[in-house]
Amino acid sequence: SMVAIGSINLDIVATAPRLPTSGAKVTDAVLTRYPGGGAANQALAARRLGADVALMGRVGQDADADAALALLRESGVDLSGVAALPDAATGVALIAVAANGENQIVVAPGANLQLASASLDLPDVDALLSEHVAPGDAVSRAVGRFEGFTCVTLATTQEVDDAVLRHADLIVVNESEAAWYGEGLASREGLVAKTFGASGAALFRDGTEIARASPPAVSAVDTTGAGDSFTAALTVALVEGQSYADALHFACAAGAAATQRNGAQPSLPTREEVDRLLRG
Ligand code: ADP
Repeated sequence: SMVAIGSINLDIVATAPRLPTSGAKVTDAVLTRYPGGGAANQALAARRLGADVALMGRVGQDADADAALALLRESGVDLSGVAALPDAATGVALIAVAANGENQIVVAPGANLQLASASLDLPDVDALLSEHVAPGDAVSRAVGRFEGFTCVTLATTQEVDDAVLRHADLIVVNESEAAWYGEGLASREGLVAKTFGASGAALFRDGTEIARASPPAVSAVDTTGAGDSFTAALTVALVEGQSYADALHFACAAGAAATQRNGAQPSLPTREEVDRLLRG
């Protein structure tokens, strides 16, 4: 069993032939709404892979909250740690996507910001998925106290407490995050997974590469959610006791599977879909 802690958003996606240049306007977009937010995505990803999952986060008391939580609720993620606050709006990510896949994202975190000052009691579970934790806040302290397998993902917009980095059993970064954090990250004690988009991922332990994997061939239509799918899958596989090599292959397949449909959460694969991709 595991808990995911962090952001819950409604993704409002405008798909257009091209992105606007500064000050200009694009007038032929099509709008779609998807549940999103890193922690919510990771929670649903782990659930679809068969884990018992609880989510901790904050939303508003508004219609966006219902939309943001719909798939999580449907799939049986425990939402008792998600508080709906009366005077904050549910987090929203405004995403513009061009036909060539380029995107621009503006996030209004709203209620998510309140998690930083909440009093948080993590449930007694085997593993924790925590999504870029701000230094010194309540989430950071809760993650630092957690005694089970701790996975932390990083972001290029947010420093993380050294104590949290040292405490984590697994840190997951994509290429831009790895570059932002520099070489020190790969040489840390414990596990670091680096993802390289369509080129797959590598796993390091105590600074030494111990596994490398490529994703199965897929026709990618939307890569949002690939990283969250990868992270949840790697954690699920490692907690199940799979070997490093098998766990990394499983995670790459889960990441690849998440690129085959639009939206972050709708594209997250079930265990059967990942196994089918792995069999080729
Ligand atoms: P993020 O979404 O965090 O930037 P990546 O883009 O590196 O992370 O994707 C995470 C994982 O998802 C990759 O390691 C890979 O296994 C899989 N993946 C991502 N994009 C593709 C793609 N275009 N084709 C196949 N697999 C992909």
